[in-house]
Amino acid sequence: MSDSYSLMIHGGSGCLEDLKYEAGEDEFRHSIHVILEKGRQRLARGDRALDVVEYCVTLLENDPLYNAGRGSVLNAKGQVEMDAALMNGADLRAGAVACISQVKNPIALARHVLAHGQNVLLMGEGALEFAKLCELELCHEDYFITQARIEQLKAAKAAGRITLDHERISPSEKLGTVGAVARDRHGDLAAATSTGGLVNNHWGRVGDTPIIGAGVFADNESCAVSATGYGEEFLRTVLAKTIAMFVQWRGMDVETAAKAGIEYLVNRVQGEGGVIVIDGAGHCASAQSTTGLICGWIEHGSEAHCTLG
Ligand code: ASP
Repeated sequence: MSDSYSLMIHGGSGCLEDLKYEAGEDEFRHSIHVILEKGRQRLARGDRALDVVEYCVTLLENDPLYNAGRGSVLNAKGQVEMDAALMNGADLRAGAVACISQVKNPIALARHVLAHGQNVLLMGEGALEFAKLCELELCHEDYFITQARIEQLKAAKAAGRITLDHERISPSEKLGTVGAVARDRHGDLAAATSTGGLVNNHWGRVGDTPIIGAGVFADNESCAVSATGYGEEFLRTVLAKTIAMFVQWRGMDVETAAKAGIEYLVNRVQGEGGVIVIDGAGHCASAQSTTGLICGWIEHGSEAHCTLG
Protein backbone atom coordinates (compact mmCIF):
# COMPACT_ATOMS: atom_id res chain seq x y z
CA MET A 1 0.00 0.00 0.00
CA SER A 2 1.25 3.49 -0.87
CA ASP A 3 2.81 5.55 1.91
CA SER A 4 1.25 8.81 0.68
CA TYR A 5 -1.17 10.73 2.88
CA SER A 6 -4.56 12.39 2.28
CA LEU A 7 -6.48 14.96 4.30
CA MET A 8 -9.92 16.55 4.00
CA ILE A 9 -11.50 19.20 6.22
CA HIS A 10 -14.92 20.86 6.15
CA GLY A 11 -16.37 24.00 7.64
CA GLY A 12 -20.04 23.12 7.43
CA SER A 13 -22.86 22.95 4.92
CA GLY A 14 -25.63 25.36 4.15
CA CYS A 15 -26.79 28.02 1.80
CA LEU A 16 -23.73 29.80 0.46
CA GLU A 17 -24.85 30.83 -2.99
CA ASP A 18 -24.31 34.51 -2.31
CA LEU A 19 -20.99 34.03 -0.56
CA LYS A 20 -18.94 34.73 -3.68
CA TYR A 21 -20.26 38.29 -3.67
CA GLU A 22 -19.24 38.89 -0.07
CA ALA A 23 -15.91 39.77 1.51
CA GLY A 24 -16.03 36.61 3.65
CA GLU A 25 -15.07 34.24 0.85
CA ASP A 26 -11.37 35.10 1.06
CA GLU A 27 -11.35 34.60 4.81
CA PHE A 28 -12.78 31.09 4.46
CA ARG A 29 -10.44 30.16 1.62
CA HIS A 30 -7.44 31.44 3.58
CA SER A 31 -8.48 29.64 6.77
CA ILE A 32 -9.06 26.32 4.96
CA HIS A 33 -5.71 26.53 3.15
CA VAL A 34 -3.74 27.42 6.29
CA ILE A 35 -5.28 24.54 8.24
CA LEU A 36 -4.76 22.05 5.39
CA GLU A 37 -1.09 23.04 5.11
CA LYS A 38 -0.58 22.69 8.87
CA GLY A 39 -2.20 19.25 8.71
CA ARG A 40 -0.03 18.37 5.70
CA GLN A 41 3.18 19.14 7.64
CA ARG A 42 2.17 16.66 10.30
CA LEU A 43 1.03 13.90 7.93
CA ALA A 44 4.15 14.33 5.75
CA ARG A 45 6.43 13.72 8.74
CA GLY A 46 4.55 10.53 9.55
CA ASP A 47 2.13 11.63 12.27
CA ARG A 48 -0.89 9.43 12.90
CA ALA A 49 -4.23 10.20 11.23
CA LEU A 50 -5.94 10.34 14.65
CA ASP A 51 -3.53 13.04 15.89
CA VAL A 52 -3.90 15.04 12.70
CA VAL A 53 -7.72 15.06 12.59
CA GLU A 54 -7.75 16.16 16.24
CA TYR A 55 -5.19 18.87 15.45
CA CYS A 56 -7.09 20.20 12.39
CA VAL A 57 -10.41 20.25 14.25
CA THR A 58 -8.74 22.08 17.16
CA LEU A 59 -7.59 24.78 14.71
CA LEU A 60 -11.11 24.97 13.24
CA GLU A 61 -12.63 25.20 16.75
CA ASN A 62 -10.30 28.09 17.60
CA ASP A 63 -11.34 30.05 14.50
CA PRO A 64 -14.54 32.04 15.18
CA LEU A 65 -15.46 31.70 11.48
CA TYR A 66 -16.93 28.28 12.22
CA ASN A 67 -19.78 26.87 14.30
CA ALA A 68 -17.61 24.86 16.71
CA GLY A 69 -15.61 25.76 19.79
CA ARG A 70 -15.14 29.53 19.84
CA GLY A 71 -17.68 30.36 17.09
CA SER A 72 -20.45 28.05 18.33
CA VAL A 73 -24.04 29.06 17.62
CA LEU A 74 -26.49 29.66 20.46
CA ASN A 75 -29.34 27.43 21.58
CA ALA A 76 -32.85 28.69 22.34
CA LYS A 77 -31.74 29.83 25.81
CA GLY A 78 -28.84 31.82 24.36
CA GLN A 79 -26.29 29.28 25.63
CA VAL A 80 -23.44 27.45 23.95
CA GLU A 81 -23.73 23.65 24.07
CA MET A 82 -21.13 21.78 22.03
CA ASP A 83 -20.76 18.24 20.70
CA ALA A 84 -17.61 16.56 19.33
CA ALA A 85 -16.30 13.10 18.47
CA LEU A 86 -13.40 11.31 16.84
CA MET A 87 -12.68 7.75 15.76
CA ASN A 88 -9.58 5.73 14.95
CA GLY A 89 -9.96 3.48 11.89
CA ALA A 90 -7.21 1.02 12.86
CA ASP A 91 -8.94 -0.36 15.96
CA LEU A 92 -12.38 1.38 16.07
CA ARG A 93 -11.53 3.23 19.28
CA ALA A 94 -13.78 6.29 19.61
CA GLY A 95 -14.36 9.19 21.98
CA ALA A 96 -17.26 11.65 22.08
CA VAL A 97 -18.72 14.44 24.20
CA ALA A 98 -22.20 15.96 24.07
CA CYS A 99 -23.91 19.06 25.43
CA ILE A 100 -20.78 20.55 26.93
CA SER A 101 -19.95 24.13 27.76
CA GLN A 102 -16.82 25.96 29.01
CA VAL A 103 -14.37 23.51 27.44
CA LYS A 104 -12.23 25.49 24.99
CA ASN A 105 -11.65 22.51 22.69
CA PRO A 106 -14.39 19.87 22.80
CA ILE A 107 -12.41 17.67 20.37
CA ALA A 108 -9.53 17.50 22.89
CA LEU A 109 -11.99 16.28 25.51
CA ALA A 110 -13.33 13.66 23.08
CA ARG A 111 -9.71 12.54 22.55
CA HIS A 112 -9.27 12.12 26.30
CA VAL A 113 -12.46 10.01 26.42
CA LEU A 114 -11.00 7.84 23.64
CA ALA A 115 -7.61 7.58 25.34
CA HIS A 116 -9.15 6.71 28.71
CA GLY A 117 -10.92 3.88 26.96
CA GLN A 118 -13.60 3.06 29.48
CA ASN A 119 -16.42 5.01 27.80
CA VAL A 120 -17.22 6.22 24.30
CA LEU A 121 -19.59 9.14 25.04
CA LEU A 122 -19.72 11.52 28.00
CA MET A 123 -22.16 14.39 28.31
CA GLY A 124 -23.02 17.53 30.27
CA GLU A 125 -21.83 17.90 33.85
CA GLY A 126 -20.06 14.54 33.88
CA ALA A 127 -18.09 15.46 30.79
CA LEU A 128 -17.16 18.81 32.35
CA GLU A 129 -15.95 17.09 35.50
CA PHE A 130 -13.85 14.75 33.34
CA ALA A 131 -12.42 17.79 31.50
CA LYS A 132 -11.34 19.24 34.85
CA LEU A 133 -9.71 15.94 35.81
CA CYS A 134 -7.84 15.99 32.50
CA GLU A 135 -6.81 19.61 33.22
CA LEU A 136 -8.19 20.85 29.91
CA GLU A 137 -8.48 24.58 29.32
CA LEU A 138 -11.85 26.05 30.33
CA CYS A 139 -13.16 29.43 29.18
CA HIS A 140 -15.76 31.88 30.43
CA GLU A 141 -18.89 32.04 28.23
CA ASP A 142 -17.71 35.42 26.88
CA TYR A 143 -15.02 33.55 24.94
CA PHE A 144 -17.69 31.64 23.00
CA ILE A 145 -20.58 34.11 22.70
CA THR A 146 -20.03 36.73 20.01
CA GLN A 147 -22.32 39.63 19.06
CA ALA A 148 -22.84 38.00 15.64
CA ARG A 149 -24.18 34.87 17.34
CA ILE A 150 -26.58 36.90 19.51
CA GLU A 151 -27.92 38.63 16.37
CA GLN A 152 -28.18 35.29 14.57
CA LEU A 153 -30.24 33.80 17.41
CA LYS A 154 -32.53 36.85 17.45
CA ALA A 155 -33.14 36.46 13.70
CA ALA A 156 -33.86 32.72 14.07
CA LYS A 157 -36.29 33.40 16.93
CA ALA A 158 -38.00 36.18 14.97
CA ALA A 159 -38.42 33.79 12.06
CA GLY A 160 -39.53 31.00 14.43
CA ARG A 161 -36.88 28.67 13.01
CA ILE A 162 -34.16 26.23 14.05
CA THR A 163 -31.47 26.52 11.42
CA LEU A 164 -28.14 25.37 10.13
CA ASP A 165 -25.46 27.93 10.79
CA HIS A 166 -25.15 28.74 7.09
CA GLU A 167 -28.82 29.20 6.45
CA ARG A 168 -29.68 32.59 5.20
CA ILE A 169 -32.30 34.14 7.42
CA SER A 170 -30.07 37.17 7.71
CA PRO A 171 -27.12 38.14 5.50
CA SER A 172 -24.48 37.58 8.19
CA GLU A 173 -24.78 33.77 8.23
CA LYS A 174 -21.97 31.94 6.54
CA LEU A 175 -20.37 29.78 9.18
CA GLY A 176 -20.54 26.07 10.06
CA THR A 177 -19.81 22.86 11.90
CA VAL A 178 -16.33 21.45 11.32
CA GLY A 179 -14.72 18.11 10.56
CA ALA A 180 -11.62 16.35 9.31
CA VAL A 181 -10.79 12.95 7.84
CA ALA A 182 -7.30 11.65 7.11
CA ARG A 183 -5.33 8.71 5.77
CA ASP A 184 -1.80 8.69 7.17
CA ARG A 185 1.45 7.31 5.75
CA HIS A 186 1.02 4.11 7.76
CA GLY A 187 -2.26 3.43 5.94
CA ASP A 188 -4.54 4.25 8.89
CA LEU A 189 -7.75 6.29 8.75
CA ALA A 190 -9.37 8.63 11.29
CA ALA A 191 -12.32 11.04 11.42
CA ALA A 192 -13.32 13.92 13.71
CA THR A 193 -16.35 16.26 13.87
CA SER A 194 -17.19 19.16 16.18
CA THR A 195 -20.19 21.50 16.39
CA GLY A 196 -22.12 24.09 18.34
CA GLY A 197 -25.31 22.48 16.99
CA LEU A 198 -28.21 24.27 15.30
CA VAL A 199 -29.14 27.92 15.83
CA ASN A 200 -32.04 28.18 18.32
CA ASN A 201 -32.09 24.41 19.05
CA HIS A 202 -33.69 23.14 22.27
CA TRP A 203 -31.27 23.11 25.23
CA GLY A 204 -30.11 19.60 25.89
CA ARG A 205 -30.55 18.63 22.24
CA VAL A 206 -27.82 16.37 20.86
CA GLY A 207 -27.31 16.09 17.12
CA ASP A 208 -25.46 13.62 14.93
CA THR A 209 -21.95 14.98 15.54
CA PRO A 210 -21.04 12.97 18.68
CA ILE A 211 -22.91 9.83 17.61
CA ILE A 212 -20.55 7.25 16.15
CA GLY A 213 -21.91 6.11 12.78
CA ALA A 214 -24.13 9.18 12.30
CA GLY A 215 -21.91 12.29 12.15
CA VAL A 216 -18.53 10.57 12.33
CA PHE A 217 -17.09 7.16 11.49
CA ALA A 218 -13.73 5.60 10.62
CA ASP A 219 -12.75 2.02 9.86
CA ASN A 220 -9.59 1.05 7.95
CA GLU A 221 -11.67 -1.64 6.25
CA SER A 222 -13.93 0.93 4.57
CA CYS A 223 -13.39 4.68 4.97
CA ALA A 224 -13.42 7.72 7.24
CA VAL A 225 -16.46 10.05 7.18
CA SER A 226 -17.31 13.40 8.76
CA ALA A 227 -20.79 14.88 8.28
CA THR A 228 -22.50 18.24 8.57
CA GLY A 229 -26.15 19.20 8.24
CA TYR A 230 -29.44 18.78 10.10
CA GLY A 231 -28.36 16.25 12.70
CA GLU A 232 -31.72 14.57 13.23
CA GLU A 233 -31.73 13.40 9.61
CA PHE A 234 -28.18 12.03 9.87
CA LEU A 235 -29.15 10.24 13.08
CA ARG A 236 -32.16 8.57 11.49
CA THR A 237 -30.17 7.40 8.48
CA VAL A 238 -26.98 6.56 10.45
CA LEU A 239 -25.37 8.22 7.50
CA ALA A 240 -21.61 7.97 8.14
CA LYS A 241 -21.85 4.22 8.76
CA THR A 242 -24.21 3.79 5.79
CA ILE A 243 -21.57 5.32 3.51
CA ALA A 244 -18.91 3.04 5.03
CA MET A 245 -21.18 0.05 4.33
CA PHE A 246 -21.56 1.14 0.71
CA VAL A 247 -17.76 1.10 0.42
CA GLN A 248 -17.14 -2.13 2.32
CA TRP A 249 -20.04 -4.32 1.32
CA ARG A 250 -21.21 -2.90 -1.98
CA GLY A 251 -17.68 -2.30 -3.27
CA MET A 252 -18.36 1.33 -4.20
CA ASP A 253 -15.53 3.81 -4.66
CA VAL A 254 -15.73 6.74 -2.23
CA GLU A 255 -17.13 9.17 -4.76
CA THR A 256 -20.01 6.84 -5.65
CA ALA A 257 -20.55 5.96 -1.96
CA ALA A 258 -20.66 9.62 -0.85
CA LYS A 259 -23.20 10.43 -3.58
CA ALA A 260 -25.25 7.30 -2.81
CA GLY A 261 -25.24 8.24 0.89
CA ILE A 262 -26.55 11.73 0.18
CA GLU A 263 -29.17 10.30 -2.21
CA TYR A 264 -30.32 7.96 0.56
CA LEU A 265 -30.44 10.92 2.99
CA VAL A 266 -32.58 12.93 0.58
CA ASN A 267 -34.83 10.09 -0.60
CA ARG A 268 -35.58 8.64 2.83
CA VAL A 269 -35.77 11.71 5.09
CA GLN A 270 -35.38 14.75 2.79
CA GLY A 271 -32.11 15.39 4.61
CA GLU A 272 -29.99 18.49 4.20
CA GLY A 273 -26.23 18.36 4.63
CA GLY A 274 -22.92 17.12 3.32
CA VAL A 275 -20.10 14.63 3.93
CA ILE A 276 -16.36 14.32 3.38
CA VAL A 277 -14.90 10.84 2.88
CA ILE A 278 -11.45 9.23 2.48
CA ASP A 279 -10.89 5.52 1.83
CA GLY A 280 -8.02 3.23 2.78
CA ALA A 281 -6.19 4.01 -0.46
CA GLY A 282 -6.40 7.75 0.25
CA HIS A 283 -9.05 8.66 -2.32
CA CYS A 284 -11.01 11.78 -1.34
CA ALA A 285 -14.68 12.55 -2.03
CA SER A 286 -17.43 14.87 -0.87
CA ALA A 287 -21.15 15.18 -1.58
CA GLN A 288 -23.93 17.39 -0.32
CA SER A 289 -27.63 18.10 -0.69
CA THR A 290 -27.30 21.71 0.49
CA THR A 291 -26.29 24.46 -1.90
CA GLY A 292 -22.90 24.80 -0.25
CA LEU A 293 -20.24 22.80 1.55
CA ILE A 294 -17.08 24.54 2.73
CA CYS A 295 -14.44 21.94 2.10
CA GLY A 296 -10.70 21.52 1.41
CA TRP A 297 -8.55 18.51 0.57
CA ILE A 298 -5.08 17.19 -0.17
CA GLU A 299 -5.21 13.91 -2.07
CA HIS A 300 -2.12 11.65 -2.01
CA GLY A 301 0.10 14.50 -0.83
CA SER A 302 -0.71 16.69 -3.84
CA GLU A 303 -1.62 20.38 -3.96
CA ALA A 304 -4.40 21.66 -1.66
CA HIS A 305 -7.87 22.40 -3.07
CA CYS A 306 -10.79 24.28 -1.58
CA THR A 307 -14.46 24.63 -2.55
CA LEU A 308 -17.01 26.90 -0.93
CA GLY A 309 -20.09 25.96 -2.92
N1 ASP B 1 -24.85 18.41 12.33
C1 ASP B 1 -24.87 19.49 13.28
C2 ASP B 1 -26.00 19.23 14.26
O1 ASP B 1 -27.07 18.86 13.86
C3 ASP B 1 -25.05 20.85 12.68
C4 ASP B 1 -24.20 21.17 11.47
O2 ASP B 1 -23.62 20.28 10.85
O3 ASP B 1 -24.08 22.37 11.10
O4 ASP B 1 -25.80 19.48 15.42
